[in-house]
Amino acid sequence: MLKGKVAVVTGSTSGIGLGIATALAAQGADIVLNGFGDPAEIEKTRAGLALAHGVKATYDGADLSKGAAVRQLVENAVSAYGRIDILVNNAGIQHTDLIENFPPEKWDAIIALNLSAVFHGTAAALPHMKKQKWGRIINIASAHGLVGSASKSAYVAAKHGVIGLTKVTALETAGLGVTANAICPGWVRTALVEKQITAIAAKDGVDQEAAARELLGEKQPSLQFVTPEQLGGTAVYLCSPAAEQVTGASISVDGGWTAR
Ligand code: NAD
Repeated sequence: MLKGKVAVVTGSTSGIGLGIATALAAQGADIVLNGFGDPAEIEKTRAGLALAHGVKATYDGADLSKGAAVRQLVENAVSAYGRIDILVNNAGIQHTDLIENFPPEKWDAIIALNLSAVFHGTAAALPHMKKQKWGRIINIASAHGLVGSASKSAYVAAKHGVIGLTKVTALETAGLGVTANAICPGWVRTALVEKQITAIAAKDGVDQEAAARELLGEKQPSLQFVTPEQLGGTAVYLCSPAAEQVTGASISVDGGWTAR
C-alpha cells in the first residue's frame, strides 16, 4: 500500500516508534529511523527492517531537542529520497515530580522534545507534502493529551499542546491531500514505562510484575498493555485511503483509560 512513499519516524530506535516504523515498512514504505542507542544495535535494526520488508531504510541520529536538528532531519530525508510522505512525530521523554519540585531543566527538556520538535518537524515537512498534494502527519500524543495525572505537569502540558497543534495542522492542510492526526496511547510497556513500573515496585516493595498490574489497574480498564504493533496498525490505517477524510482527530488506543 505504501510502496514509493517515504516515512520519517522520530524516536524509532525502540518502543512505539520502532513498532510504527516496522508496520509502515511492512506496507512497503522506505523508512528513516531516528533516535538514540547502541550504534551496533541500531544498525542491526536498520538492516533487518530493510531486508525483512524489501524497502530502503536509513538512520539519522539527530538530537531532536534542538529545533534546527529536527528541521535538518526532514531536509536530510528529502535530499536522500527526493520526498517525504509520512512524518511520525514520536520521540518523547518523561519525568515525574510534583510541580513545586519539578526541575525547570526537565520542564524545558520535555517541552522541547515532546512539543516543540513536533512543531519544527511539521513546519519542515509541510511545504514538501503540500507540493506533492499528499502527506500524513502522525503525532504520537498520549492519553495524557486528553486527561491529566499528578506529577506529570510537563508531559501532560506537552501532550495537550500536541493535540492542539495537530488540530491547527489539520485546518491549515484541509483539502490539500495532507492529513494530521494524533494517536493517544494508554500504557505501552516500553523503556519509558518500565522506569515508572520500577519506581512503583520500589515504593510499594513489590516485584516488577505486581507493580505493572498496579500501574494498569489505576488507569487502564482493560488491564492489558497496548502494544507497539497495535499502534503501528493505527498509523497504517491513517495512511490508508479509508482515512483520507480523517484529519484533526485524536485517536485513543488506551484500553478504555479516557472512557471514564
Ligand atoms: P521509548 O523510551 O521506548 O522510546 C523513545 C524514543 O525516543 C527512543 O527511540 C529514544 O532514543 C528517542 N529519543 C529520546 N530522546 C531523543 C532526542 N533528544 N532526539 C531523538 N530521539 C530521542 O518510549 P516510548 O514509550 O516508545 O515513547 C514513544 C512516544 O510515545 C513518546 O512520545 C511517548 O510520550 C509516547 N507515549 C508512550 C506511552 C507508553 O505507555 N509507553 C503512552 C503514551 C504515549
